Amino acid sequence: MAGERHRRHCGGGDVDRRRDPAVGVKTLVRKPPADERRLDVLGRMPRLRRVVMSRSFQPVSMLLLLAPFALAIVAGLLGTSAGNRNFGIVFVWIVWWAVLMVLMVPGFGRIWCTICPIPAPGEWIQRRGIIGGGGKLRTLGLRWPRRLRNMWIQNVGFLILALFSMIILTRPTVSAGVILGLAGVAVSMSLLFENRVFCKYVCPIGGFIGLYSMAAPIELRVRDTQVCVDHRSKDCITGNERGYGCPWMVYPGKLDRNLDCGFCTECLKTCTMDNVVINLRRPGADLAKPGGGKQIDEAYKALIMLACSIIYPAVLFGPWATVRGWASVESLWGWAIYATAFLSATLLFVPGVFWLTVFAAQRRSATGVTIRQAYREYAHSLIPLGLAAWMAFSVGFALTNGSYALAAVSDPLGWGWNLFGTSETGWTPYLSGTAPAIQAAILVGGLLFSIRTTLRVGFRHDPSGTTATRAAVPVVAFLLASTLALLWLYLG
Ligand code: SF4
Ligand code: SF4
Repeated sequence: MAGERHRRHCGGGDVDRRRDPAVGVKTLVRKPPADERRLDVLGRMPRLRRVVMSRSFQPVSMLLLLAPFALAIVAGLLGTSAGNRNFGIVFVWIVWWAVLMVLMVPGFGRIWCTICPIPAPGEWIQRRGIIGGGGKLRTLGLRWPRRLRNMWIQNVGFLILALFSMIILTRPTVSAGVILGLAGVAVSMSLLFENRVFCKYVCPIGGFIGLYSMAAPIELRVRDTQVCVDHRSKDCITGNERGYGCPWMVYPGKLDRNLDCGFCTECLKTCTMDNVVINLRRPGADLAKPGGGKQIDEAYKALIMLACSIIYPAVLFGPWATVRGWASVESLWGWAIYATAFLSATLLFVPGVFWLTVFAAQRRSATGVTIRQAYREYAHSLIPLGLAAWMAFSVGFALTNGSYALAAVSDPLGWGWNLFGTSETGWTPYLSGTAPAIQAAILVGGLLFSIRTTLRVGFRHDPSGTTATRAAVPVVAFLLASTLALLWLYLG
């Protein structure tokens, strides 16, 4: 029986394990029983389940976070213009960003979207209350255009933020304006459209959180899809007295990727069949699935994020002071050159090189997969490395600048207050000697994870394994080159 199962995993072909190294690699990357293993977290933790099932869980979490974000806006608009003394800059771009990218996304996927205060006011207006319990939403009920049901607006939004990041990160008024702008768009869209159209199709932060959440070791899924098929009332879609229909317009019964689910926990409450669970799973279980997104937008998201994860440290920490000046909009011409180079790199050069990489991979394989499909699916290989690159960047940034938080919390507006007796704390970089080693370890971990994903895509395209490892070589070379560039920036 075990032999038969092994034959099936190996495609049932006559493969000599001693002669074909692909078999060893395949065994390494394809262990279906382990991939299927899931642990029902809330089933094991009844107290946590009670908290999550409570109607007040999400709104109270949002309210708790709304307070520091409101203070960040006030500090940005009224406080000191010195970014490193202003709570708005320090709290959002050092503390929140580091917690988001180092802990939340890699460990808990979309958990930020569960508690994010940005869409909260709009959602509360829609629901006519903060702790609602189901019912009709108050909106104009417009439908989001079909051609915009993808990640392109999120891609463009992220690129705009990235282009101006040097001034967003250092000028408190600009930073406050960005947060206010996002909240304003979120509220306006809540009035026009039903549910979380802003989060699902517009928010530039939600876009990359969703992409990287597919690498997380946690997921929300249904326990048994057949129960959903047989359950005619579909309360998770319609809502009931226990909660609202899915605000992210998802049918949980068909959910198979974290990207599509906002982790709002409504369906946990509304499901009368107790069929929705939060699972602990193998990290990256959503990656290398067939399709890799319906359109090329998702592949572009992965490419843009990886490209930016290299450009950011190059501009911020690299030896090119002139480029830093251009990125900081010191002159309009300089910024125009920077913007042209930045957009060319993120939208043309990196996607173009990756297209050539996938083209070479396809030439080395003997599968009927189209280049477009291969492009979408191999782009998933970039997700673990991209996430690791952002983690490495955020760790370094937080360790170098984290000490500013002690002063900012005591004197959030820079007006000379000393609420907690720490306002005079000077700038102290933490672990400056070991930070590069930590960053290198994160990057190498991301590279290995990405190589594993590449091999999984290759073996899915060619289950016989004959050409899968050969096809992976160009993609692995692309990943290796990206990692070496990052290691050079952090260690060089
Ligand atoms: S998508 Fe954006 S606004 Fe919506 S919850 Fe997530 S981060 Fe917040
Ligand atoms: S599937 Fe469930 S948890 Fe995910 S967004 Fe929809 S209602 Fe929320």
